Amino acid sequence: RPVDQPIHEAVLGRAAEFGDTPALIDGVDGTTVSYAQLGTFTRRIAAALAEAGVRKGDVLALHSPNTIAYPAVFYAATMAGASVTTVHPLATADELAKQLRDSGARWIVTVSLLLETAKAAAAAAEAAGGGPVAEIFVCDRAEGHRSVLHDMLASTAPEPVVEIDPAEDVAVLPYSSGTTGAPKGVMLTHRSIATNLAQLDPLLPNETDERILAVLPFFHIYGLTALMNAPLRRGATVVVLPRFDLEQYLAAIERHRVTALYVAPPIVLALAKHPAVTEHDLSSVRYVLSAAAPLDAELAAACSRRLGVPPVLQAYGMTELSPGTHAVPLDAENPPPGTVGTLVPGTEMRIVSLDDPTRDLDPGEPGEVLIRGPQVMKGYLGRPDATAAMIDEDGWLHTGDVGRVDADGWLFVVDRVKELIKYKGYQVAPAELEACLLTHPEVADAAVIGVMDEDGNEIPKAYVVRRPGAGTTAEQVMTYVAERVAPYKKIRRVEFLDAVPRAVSGKILRRELRTRERTSTTP
Ligand code: ATP
Ligand code: MG
Repeated sequence: RPVDQPIHEAVLGRAAEFGDTPALIDGVDGTTVSYAQLGTFTRRIAAALAEAGVRKGDVLALHSPNTIAYPAVFYAATMAGASVTTVHPLATADELAKQLRDSGARWIVTVSLLLETAKAAAAAAEAAGGGPVAEIFVCDRAEGHRSVLHDMLASTAPEPVVEIDPAEDVAVLPYSSGTTGAPKGVMLTHRSIATNLAQLDPLLPNETDERILAVLPFFHIYGLTALMNAPLRRGATVVVLPRFDLEQYLAAIERHRVTALYVAPPIVLALAKHPAVTEHDLSSVRYVLSAAAPLDAELAAACSRRLGVPPVLQAYGMTELSPGTHAVPLDAENPPPGTVGTLVPGTEMRIVSLDDPTRDLDPGEPGEVLIRGPQVMKGYLGRPDATAAMIDEDGWLHTGDVGRVDADGWLFVVDRVKELIKYKGYQVAPAELEACLLTHPEVADAAVIGVMDEDGNEIPKAYVVRRPGAGTTAEQVMTYVAERVAPYKKIRRVEFLDAVPRAVSGKILRRELRTRERTSTTP
């Protein structure tokens, strides 16, 4: 059964089956890697890694932007028996050092552009008491470092034969986004990744002529599974872009006749609103799938209208869930606007009271989402307490997200439990107010947090970015929202900003706003 197979085996199987079909296309320069080549590259790099000393259970840090070499390096590392800890390509040396130490990484694969950061991080990790990094490889070329594409591909070493136990062995060790605290290493086994891919696969079309545009970073679990693992297991073609640049993105869709866009909300926003979109032929696109952060229903509708595709599909998940538990099936008839989907097979969900987690709520009532299933992580690396706080004795993972399910089983994500604002005993979800603000024609972006007023009550405060030239006042913004929400949800303070701090996935970095609030002089 595919779920009991190490993850690279499924890809190697496809390599034999699909031969000359393009597996990967560089969205910028058009370089193509066929399935046969992907298989060969994976085997050779695995052999070279094993020859260099990579052993079962070692941790290898993959520190690279999205490139067409990334999948082969990733699968080769697991084939050599390593767990891959994926690193944000924009991580500072300090952040990378922390991840190297925390994960116990012995090997780094980077690219020449990031080599200095990798070196500094390895030195800092060791100085801080971490185990030494045995070797730093580069994908491209750099003096004094073995190159994956030049030296390793030429390797004649024998392929490693490593016994992998899919249920126990950690394939990927991604770090959670750190939206709510310090990023934590999430142990995902071969089986939990493979199971989740099998659970999500039937929801997507099984067409081998699919061309998927991979712009979301592979280091994040969403980019990794939704863009790299799943399509490559299906025999689809993945068009790879290193970063989101709208012009480059649109040009890649047009040039490579892309059929599927896997995106996060900021890209939906750009597709819905940017004038450049209408200057490109995007008729090849068949569907758009968004996940990772709340998506406003009106924005989603505007995007699908503009592209002439079915309503933007949503999926829901988290790093700790390998990552998906909900998705809107492509063939669903009239999914309700704003839903993140129905539960994938083989998974259980409960919605429980925020005050009393032992009490299950009725359909329609919002509460914390609990999940139990084979895609639940093995745990946080080296953090038994954090793991126990997340997964209870009965195996239920407490997502920390507030959701409600309608009578037909569609899930709606309201917000994170920790972000809810308690206004005079009422619970106000910032995400709902942000969605409302974004419908204002002069509002370019917005974020809401709870702040303390003069009497020590928590009140909703909006940070608003106005469109260029817009003169909307704080008063007008507050009135606009007040006309559209229940009185207890009213925004009671507004500050204008140049930009809302966001992660690339579109997640609002509310802790940065809280710091700003704490350090600004009290009104
Ligand atoms: P950390 O756990 O380190 O604070 P994080 O929770 O942002 O960071 P991820 O695992 O990348 O790290 O993100 C998972 C979270 O993203 C979910 O718990 C949920 O809050 C949010 N999310 C994912 N998909 C959706 C969606 N479709 N709509 C709304 N929110 C979503
Ligand atoms: Mg989280």
